[in-house]
Amino acid sequence: MDIDYLIIGQGIAGTLLSYELLRAGKKVIVIDEPSVNKASLVAGAVINPMIGKSWTPALHQDIFIPEAMDTYKSLEKILGTPVIKESSLLAFHENEANEKIFNASQINNSNNLHLLDSKQLTSLKEHFRFENTVGCVAPVWLIDAENLLQYWRNYLNTRNILLAEKFHFDDCQISERNVQYKTIKADKIIFCEGAVARNNPLFNALPFTKNRGEALLLSIPHLSTEQVYHQRLRLIPRADGLFWCGSNYLWAFDNLQPSNEWRRQAEVQLKKWLCLPFEIHNHIVAERPTTAGQIPLIGYHSSSPRIAIFNGLGTRGFSAGPFWAKQICNQLIG
Ligand SMILES: Cc1cc2nc3c(=O)[nH]c(=O)nc-3n(C[C@H](O)[C@H](O)[C@H](O)COP(=O)(O)OP(=O)(O)OC[C@H]3O[C@@H](n4cnc5c(N)ncnc54)[C@H](O)[C@@H]3O)c2cc1C
Repeated sequence: MDIDYLIIGQGIAGTLLSYELLRAGKKVIVIDEPSVNKASLVAGAVINPMIGKSWTPALHQDIFIPEAMDTYKSLEKILGTPVIKESSLLAFHENEANEKIFNASQINNSNNLHLLDSKQLTSLKEHFRFENTVGCVAPVWLIDAENLLQYWRNYLNTRNILLAEKFHFDDCQISERNVQYKTIKADKIIFCEGAVARNNPLFNALPFTKNRGEALLLSIPHLSTEQVYHQRLRLIPRADGLFWCGSNYLWAFDNLQPSNEWRRQAEVQLKKWLCLPFEIHNHIVAERPTTAGQIPLIGYHSSSPRIAIFNGLGTRGFSAGPFWAKQICNQLIG
């Protein structure tokens, strides 16, 4: 089978790149091994224009967010399913220092940030215990990653262009003329493998760093699903009615087993913060594809223009991904 591009991985990177290339009329095949540790399915998948601790604008958010809106709204139309939802984030300030940082940033970013008034605080006290003020970031956007990735998988499947299996390097020959993988002849191969790219023999010299994060999926009856709640932990409403609760950033680890200690600490914090009962439904873990300097790794391999990479989306794959997918698509198709 002759195609233009063979894409390895269907997390958010492989999803967005295959979408852009198909939109450009190219022939594509995606190979993706289903995995419970896929970062894109473990993520909170929030697009937040502000940085959580300093409450200052996130780098390049003025470029990334319009591209993300455009892409996710187009995908909603094509797939006929909700993908993106506008929301707001409530930041519970734990102490005066937090309040001061938020208030200082509010002066320069009054379009995005405001403090809740006393009526709003009183109604919030029915569900949370807190002493200090609560800031609001609006808008933020929630991506329904599970829906997006599954519907995109179905879309690829119905066109017979998805192989749900592991890609093996031993079955791949890359020559000056083409890329041959089993019976597939492709013009180029693009690796969108997420954090496991550290072990990719073609790209293992790149400055990947190791970072794992985990989350609990909770049911919290009676808590409004209209907002994201943030106080060290973040509670993010999901389309299935559960709340995503996370996360930690672990730089040294040797496995992807859920940590009982982190879960215990999260439960203690939740019991202090929430007045409502909650039940834990799942505990999920994944590696973030982080890099030294938090720089995405995007472009051709130095040895051959037939090999490319789209990786290193780090902690902001859902906001930065659409912009970078368009960039690499333009580069690939010249
Ligand atoms: C706890 C946590 C919270 C997060 N929260 C947010 C957030 O709120 N907002 C945000 O924007 N980002 C968030 N992120 C970051 C975000 O998840 C990542 O930036 C993004 O998902 C990376 O996507 P990816 O496609 O590069 O990798 P992945 O999603 O890991 O996808 C890689 C895919 O490649 C497949 N693959 C790899 N090797 C092979 C092979 N040899 N053969 C076949 N298939 C292969 C894997 O199975 C996988 O399906 C979070 C991450 C974590 C872990």
